Amino acid sequence: MSTLNKIDKEIIENSIRNIPDFPKEGIIFKDITTLLNNPIALKTLMNHVEERYKSYNLDYVAGIDARGFIFGSILADRLNIGFVPIRKKGKLPFTTVAEKYSLEYGFDEVEVHIDAFPKENARVLLIDDLIATGGTAKAAASLITKVGANCVEACFILELDFLNGRDGIESDVYSVMHID
Ligand code: AMP
Repeated sequence: MSTLNKIDKEIIENSIRNIPDFPKEGIIFKDITTLLNNPIALKTLMNHVEERYKSYNLDYVAGIDARGFIFGSILADRLNIGFVPIRKKGKLPFTTVAEKYSLEYGFDEVEVHIDAFPKENARVLLIDDLIATGGTAKAAASLITKVGANCVEACFILELDFLNGRDGIESDVYSVMHID
């Protein structure tokens, strides 16, 4: 199993920008656009994630709308497997299965195509940029199961440990970096 060495961790960590009070007061938004436009940081991150998952015998990577699409697509291509988008409600054109989840105020909904994982009993890695309360990832993982595939692990670039988001997720969880 690959571990992230101190230098690589610093390269990735230092490439992520903190935006205080976005999208509202009190939230420190972790801006990964500065990681994406830094080719060394992006390659360092993707090398690490590829190294971890190359022996998992995965069939698909499923990415959460929208930043999970970026890391998920790169990883799927590196692993020579398919990519599946898990989208916010109303964006997917074919028949979908949906899952609601609670937000601080109200709820949101994610969807996946009913035939998103054509391989029987597919082994799927779920990926997103960040796990906070875990609501989005829990709903996404449950969608993977609903359409007949197996969520083998959920992977995040950053985890906000103090929100305990991973506790609600049934699959294994791996986060490249943690904020406590
Ligand atoms: P949650 O459902 O609470 O785990 O929220 C996770 C989703 O919201 C992910 O898709 C993240 O991209 C986004 N998100 C939540 N908190 C932050 C934050 N502090 N910085 C950047 N993105 C965030």
